[in-house]
Amino acid sequence: MKCNILASACLAGKECRYDGTSNKMVFDDSRDDVLLFCPEVEGGLPTPREPAEIMGGDGYDVLAGRAKVVSKTGKDVTRQFVNGAVTAVLLCKKNDIRLAVLKSKSPSCGCQKIYNGTFSGDLIDGCGVTAALLSYFGIKVIDENAERSLYEEN
Ligand code: SF4
Repeated sequence: MKCNILASACLAGKECRYDGTSNKMVFDDSRDDVLLFCPEVEGGLPTPREPAEIMGGDGYDVLAGRAKVVSKTGKDVTRQFVNGAVTAVLLCKKNDIRLAVLKSKSPSCGCQKIYNGTFSGDLIDGCGVTAALLSYFGIKVIDENAERSLYEEN
């Protein structure tokens, strides 16, 4: 079956989060219409890895060169985050995927809110780097919680 949706891999039980865990399951990993993808891993970062946040803005600001992605100990991982975002767009274009369901709050995948770059747990309005680049290229991005509510309504 053709993949119609790109999804954050950690939403289907893949243990690709920075701490080597997954998230609450939104997708059954056997669904063959969903292409599971982790931009941070595909961008070249290991698992587990240090947590990272966007400093100086959101994903659009990173792509415009006005902000960067920095790990908790100060390592600049902007290049890896941008690499992952570019790969996500290329995969969507190659597979004619027009919808991405992404993990909330992530500096890569967040669609509405992201952490503010101080590692304090505080959030700001904005999206992650992959969510921003997918949106820029016309791919609809929705938050995992929107996807959950779709299931709950039906
Ligand atoms: Fe990977 Fe995105 Fe999940 Fe983070 S939120 S682990 S970048 S798929």
